[in-house]
Amino acid sequence: MHFLYMKAEQVTLGLFLTLQTLLHEMIHYYQRLRGTSDIDHGATFHFHMERINRESGANITVYHDFDQEYESLKRHWWKCNGPCAQVVRRLADRTPGSKAHKRKCGGDFIKVQEPKRMRTGL
Ligand SMILES: [Zn+2]
Ligand SMILES: [Zn+2]
Repeated sequence: MHFLYMKAEQVTLGLFLTLQTLLHEMIHYYQRLRGTSDIDHGATFHFHMERINRESGANITVYHDFDQEYESLKRHWWKCNGPCAQVVRRLADRTPGSKAHKRKCGGDFIKVQEPKRMRTGL
């Protein structure tokens, strides 16, 4: 029975962590949606993180190994040549850029890094 209890607790903890990862990712998603320049864990992120933690009793942190792993898979990088100097990393070779960004910043996204194997055909 003790063994079963442990398993249940681990499952609960797993769900709890999944929820927090989800909330964490939702903040990033919201930031991207709003086109804020601090995509990583800057002032905007902390503002939402603290608000959600306070209101929901969750314990969102700025750390997420899963996301770090996921981020490392994003080998296509672009950097904005405008005043916001935003860096966007993507899994696929799709140049970022939105009307909102163009209006606010005016810069263009320039490819700064891509997977090495992409260059072998040149
Ligand atoms: Zn994050
Ligand atoms: Zn920009």
